[in-house]
Amino acid sequence: MRACVFKAPGAPLEVVDVPDPVAGPGELVVRVRACGICSSDLHAAKSISDPLPAGAIMGHELAGEIAQIGPGVSGCKIGDPVVVMSYLACGDCANCRAGAGVRCEQSRLVGFGEAPGGYAELIATRPASVFKMPPGLSFQTGATVEPLVIGLHAVRRAKIRAGESCVIIGAGATGLMTMLCARAAGARPIVFSDRALDRRESAMRLGADAAVDPRMHRAGAAMAKLTGAPPDVVFDCAGEPGSLAEAVTAVRPRGRVIAASASLEDDGFPPGLAMGKELDIHFSFGLEPGEVEETIELLASERISTAPLVTHVVALDDLPRVFAALQEPNRQVRVMVEP
Ligand SMILES: [Zn+2]
Ligand SMILES: [Zn+2]
Repeated sequence: MRACVFKAPGAPLEVVDVPDPVAGPGELVVRVRACGICSSDLHAAKSISDPLPAGAIMGHELAGEIAQIGPGVSGCKIGDPVVVMSYLACGDCANCRAGAGVRCEQSRLVGFGEAPGGYAELIATRPASVFKMPPGLSFQTGATVEPLVIGLHAVRRAKIRAGESCVIIGAGATGLMTMLCARAAGARPIVFSDRALDRRESAMRLGADAAVDPRMHRAGAAMAKLTGAPPDVVFDCAGEPGSLAEAVTAVRPRGRVIAASASLEDDGFPPGLAMGKELDIHFSFGLEPGEVEETIELLASERISTAPLVTHVVALDDLPRVFAALQEPNRQVRVMVEP
C-alpha cells in the first residue's frame, strides 16, 4: 500500500510503498477514506526532544471501510463504514472485554510511532477501537469524531445547563469542537478569547457570539457586556502558560473552569484568586465509555455539524507539501487527507 511516512524532525514527509497490513487473530484492517491533520501531528513532526521513529505513519483522526476481518472477529462485514479511534485497545483486558475499550490499560497511541496511523491507504486496528458509522454520515465527518469527542468530554466535565454563558480560551480545533458541543448542550452566549485574528474569525464564522483579542479586551468583560455578568463556565482550550490564570480571572464567583488543554510549563496560576471565588476547576482528559457513540449520534442526528470545520481536502500524494505548508501560520481549521 501507499503510505505517507515521517522521515526526521523538520524534514518533509514522504509517500512510499510499504507492505499491506494483514488482519491477524482479533484484528481488522480498515481502508482509510478520510483522516484529519491535527496540530499535534504538526508538533510531533518537528519535535527534537521527543522525536517520532523514522518510518512512522501519523494520523489519528480517521474513518474508513472494513477491508479485512481477522480470525475470531464477529459482528461486522467487509465494507462496513467505521470510525477508527486514536487508541489501539488490546481487546483482551477486563475493560476491553466489558466493552470499555476507551479505558484499555494496555492501549497504544495511534499515529505517533506506537501504532501506525491513517496517513495511509490501510490501517490495522481492533474491534475495541472501532465504531460503526450510521448510513448518511460522510467519511470526512466520521474523521472529526475523534477531536469532537474531546469537546464533548470537556462539556460533560463542565455539567453545562441550558442558558449558561461560556468563555472559551483558544479558538483552535479543540476550542471550536468544544463550542459545538457546548451549543448542543444549550450554552449561550459563547465568547472566545484568542490572540490570532484568523482563529477569532473561524470562531465567529462557526457561530460564536463574540471573539476578543486578550491583549486588548478581557473575555470576562466582553461577556459582561452581553449578559451583565461574567461567564458561568470558562474552558481553557489553549493550554498555554498563563491561559489557566486567564480562565480563573474571567469566570464568575462559584463558576467552573475546565482545562481541556494544558501545558507542562508553569502557568502563573493564582490559587488565592480561585479560592476567593470558590471555583470548581476540572481537568478534562480521556473519555468515558459511551461518549464516542454519543458523539456519532450528535453528528448523525445533525444536532452538530463539523462540516464547516473541514476547510481543505488533499490526496495522499499532496500531503507532504500541504503538511509542510501547515507548519506556517494559516487559515485552515481541519485539512482532510483522502488516501
Ligand atoms: Zn488530534
Ligand atoms: Zn484492553
